[in-house]
Amino acid sequence: MADYYLYTPGPTSVPEKVRKRMAEQVIYHRGDEFKKLFTRINKNLQYIFQTSQPVLTLVSSGTGGMEATFVNLFSPDDTIISVNNGKFSARWVEMPRALGLKVIDLRLDWGEAPTAAQVLRLLRKHPQAKAVYLVHCETSTGTVTDVRSLAKVIRNNSSALVCVDGVSSIGALEFRFDDWGIDVCVTASQKGLMLPPGLAFVALSRRAIRKFSSSSLPKYYFDFKKILNSYRSEQTPWTPAISLLMGLDESLKMIHSEGLEKIWKRHKILADSLRSGIKKLGLEILSKNPSNSVTAVLLPRHIKSLEFHNHIQNKYGCIFGKGQGHYASELFRIGHIGNVQESDVQRIITAIKKTLNELK
Ligand code: PMP
Repeated sequence: MADYYLYTPGPTSVPEKVRKRMAEQVIYHRGDEFKKLFTRINKNLQYIFQTSQPVLTLVSSGTGGMEATFVNLFSPDDTIISVNNGKFSARWVEMPRALGLKVIDLRLDWGEAPTAAQVLRLLRKHPQAKAVYLVHCETSTGTVTDVRSLAKVIRNNSSALVCVDGVSSIGALEFRFDDWGIDVCVTASQKGLMLPPGLAFVALSRRAIRKFSSSSLPKYYFDFKKILNSYRSEQTPWTPAISLLMGLDESLKMIHSEGLEKIWKRHKILADSLRSGIKKLGLEILSKNPSNSVTAVLLPRHIKSLEFHNHIQNKYGCIFGKGQGHYASELFRIGHIGNVQESDVQRIITAIKKTLNELK
């Protein structure tokens, strides 16, 4: 039993069952047992993305999964539109630029979510855009983007691929890859999937898969053609992170047995309860469109960030995320994603209340 509670917006708490499974003896990745494990995992991954399309598993964190999407779908000088409303979405402006793409940066204030009109205006202005990148939950500000409506607008008005960073949303917020017409969605192991960091997952539509053949950016380890070929014979081209996959098998079973819709509902109920508790303490939530997986809270001006985090961790065992970017010293961020219950929300509110009183 850890002597702290991990309420960071990633990594998130790993359930005991999952930890135990990862501690088992490793298995051989070219044997039958692995094939059965991989097949079961792949089926359950399709369930959490709500897709009948392939979901590729990469040995990397979420950022590697995102890089893999750029290098496998596009060619130098291709134009993409990237919605930029926080630290992670800013990375999806910087990274494709570094890779040689032309990026139209739809820059918004932190805490704001893009509107259909803003995206549509850029699509009309840049009809050559090959994709629109959206971050479902911007973890630096706790802001949710209405991916479903935006995907519809993008599909109805262009041939651009709809690409989603679902790192802090998949397995926590409602998401339906097939029904919503999403082309690419990336997530990582250390959030809604309740695992340690180390794996990225990429769901790909038929349209996205067709782009592999025209993409000329260099790739090798993350070459989706190779990875998809192996996937089709229940294999991985390289040595997989076997122990993490064993843990994933366990966490996906847990998700399956609770049921995705119940999990989405649990996250909503807990987020509502957390937000109302925070507001009752007189604190302000940054986001205008708050996410049910992470909440960014403005610290009262008289309290220093370092002092707050040290106190709440040392006295109450609660570890929160720190502010990022220009909000580094002004915010604290609470992860309520994955392995969380009402008792966690109560513990969080009580710890914040006492800490604020004690630091007066
Ligand atoms: N996108 C979002 C929305 C994230 O929250 C994170 C991680 N916090 C990332 C991307 C980057 O993922 P990783 O740290 O796993 O590379």
